[in-house]
Amino acid sequence: MTAKIIDGKEFAASVRGKVAEHVAGLKADHDITPGLAVVLVGEDPASAVYVRNKGKSTLEVGMNSYEHKLDKDTSQEDLLALIDQLNKDPKVHGILCQLPLPDHIDEPAITSAILPEKDVDGFHISNVGLLGMGLKSMVPCTPLGCLMMLRDHHGSLSGLNAVVVGRSNIVGKPMANLLLTDSCTVTIAHSRTKEIEALCRRADIVVAAVGRPEMINADWIAEGATVIDVGINRIPAPEKGEGKTRLVGDVDFASAKEKAGAITPVPGGVGPMTIACLLANTVTACCRANGLAEPEGLTA
Ligand code: NDP
Repeated sequence: MTAKIIDGKEFAASVRGKVAEHVAGLKADHDITPGLAVVLVGEDPASAVYVRNKGKSTLEVGMNSYEHKLDKDTSQEDLLALIDQLNKDPKVHGILCQLPLPDHIDEPAITSAILPEKDVDGFHISNVGLLGMGLKSMVPCTPLGCLMMLRDHHGSLSGLNAVVVGRSNIVGKPMANLLLTDSCTVTIAHSRTKEIEALCRRADIVVAAVGRPEMINADWIAEGATVIDVGINRIPAPEKGEGKTRLVGDVDFASAKEKAGAITPVPGGVGPMTIACLLANTVTACCRANGLAEPEGLTA
């Protein structure tokens, strides 16, 4: 069997299209423009690229983007003061503080200072708790993107066996909770899990969020299973020239695609969905803040 390749770029474009449509409606019918504030502390080059891309994508769907670039030596007190100001600003519906933060700043203190209803990353403990209870919350962007692709492929996820490999707070655990809420039978595997290959082989859905290049190969996958590869790993690519690298996922795509029923590639799978879901969360937060109907298909 050769798998259907789930095209994350195309899917993300359709999500962005739905967001743009909803934003246009909010402007025309209610004179409201959703706004996303992104805070960057320091000069980490990768974080600067993420923040630039987020700002660009926000403007492209017709929302307002507010970028706050702070010096790497910014004190925790000053950062908290900015978050307080953004919490109170009615033009700002979503707040994202780009992680990682410099060492002298207490990350959980910052995450929990953002108002839960503006927490478009879904990292605030209130949102984590609501998600755990299967209640309406702001859902972390990467697992939300995975869920959207799985629902699109399967229709109903009810009764399917899902294995999530990885138990991080930003991907593995929220992914498992989302699948459980959609009535999957969920197993969370991690570095101490015994017989992990056999577990995965029994799954209808495998979500890989490990951070180990190409760890999961065809032997781990049941014939016809759906494989969602969250991993982003840079490995040497001498075939491209000395010192060159390439991106691979946590799944050995070449072998897995011959056995799976559907699979996301890396790059071009889950990655593009993450920013699209950030935009989706921002428009959802804006609708909730204004007591308006939420856009369909853009929430969990
Ligand atoms: P973390 O490092 O926080 O978590 C990795 C998880 O994998 C841990 O739970 C760890 O187990 C588990 N693990 C590590 N080694 C093994 C192993 N040999 N067997 C089984 N489980 C193992 O990573 P993240 O969740 O933050 O990210 C995972 C991957 O997803 C990374 O490649 C990251 O770059 C990527 N990512 C991609 C995003 C996107 O937009 N596409 C967004 C976020 C992340 P234990 O808890 O026991 O240590």
